Amino acid sequence: MKHYLLPEGGKFYKANMHLHTTVSDGCYTPEDIKKIYMDLGYSILAYTDHEVIVPHTDLTDENFLALTGYEITIWESGSHIDRKVFHLNLIAKEAENNVSSSFRLVDVDQDRQYVTEEMMKYNHPRKYSSECVNEIIESAKKEGFLVSLNHPVWSTQNYTDYADLKGLWATEVYNSASNLGGAIENTQAFEDLVRLHEPVFPLAVDDTHYPFHVGHGWIMVKAHSLDYPTVISALEKGDFYASTGPEIKELYLEEGILHIKTSEAAGIYVTTEKIKRWSAMGTEEEPVTEASFNVSDYVQRTLAGTTNKQAYIRVTVKDFKGEYAYSRAYFLDELAASV
Ligand SMILES: [Zn+2]
Ligand SMILES: [Zn+2]
Repeated sequence: MKHYLLPEGGKFYKANMHLHTTVSDGCYTPEDIKKIYMDLGYSILAYTDHEVIVPHTDLTDENFLALTGYEITIWESGSHIDRKVFHLNLIAKEAENNVSSSFRLVDVDQDRQYVTEEMMKYNHPRKYSSECVNEIIESAKKEGFLVSLNHPVWSTQNYTDYADLKGLWATEVYNSASNLGGAIENTQAFEDLVRLHEPVFPLAVDDTHYPFHVGHGWIMVKAHSLDYPTVISALEKGDFYASTGPEIKELYLEEGILHIKTSEAAGIYVTTEKIKRWSAMGTEEEPVTEASFNVSDYVQRTLAGTTNKQAYIRVTVKDFKGEYAYSRAYFLDELAASV
């Protein structure tokens, strides 16, 4: 029996999960950015302006879904120029939810017109520490938000900054604004967190502020319909992959064999938390578009071991332009039933 890791049913919807508009420091209005992305084949945008949550539900229609969210900033103390910073996105699981206890008025440096009385009830302390960030993540989850860790490399963060975080929904493996600004590689935090057994999903995003950020990083969400609860449910379950180019068309297990179907690729890679890895390589003359790997032994032996009960497999695809697609990590408890 086939066990689909990316759901078999439904269709793929293209989404940019991180952007800024004229509500904060972006150059496009919420309406304009919808048009720009829809013209590029996107169906979903998460509006994540800095520090204030402004739902744009009026923009949602049968072909477009506006997700509600915001981005918060937690600076390291001091005024030195190389301070580290946490940027977190909070994505509301309900379209009209614009209340988060993580709100802090002092951080709203543009457009205070969007601050509501409800937001003013909160003045959350923001300390650059795992404790404070974990407390924010926990509160945000209770208040109905999915929380992502944004562009850790741009933020000059390393393992010591994020290793103790618990309950993140996702972390960015690609951020167009950071990438084009010179913070090129963002995958290490994702790899580190899943190795720590945190079920964190990979996001490729544009973090759109300006026109040249548009259309470089996205996720493909597999869902049965383009309505708010259905898409949030797919996001929460991890029914999506991140990409800067290649497609992951199918991903399933059948009797211990992992099957992967992709767009024309230079490489299809399966990585685990151990040294065990698999790959299939193509050439421009003979690209690979599918690969099958027997992961049964690895899964069985890992399950039989006393440690690494939370080992995982994940898939990366590379195309001939050097662009990548990333599946989430599928942990062994999820895989055990189908090998
Ligand atoms: Zn940011
Ligand atoms: Zn941003």
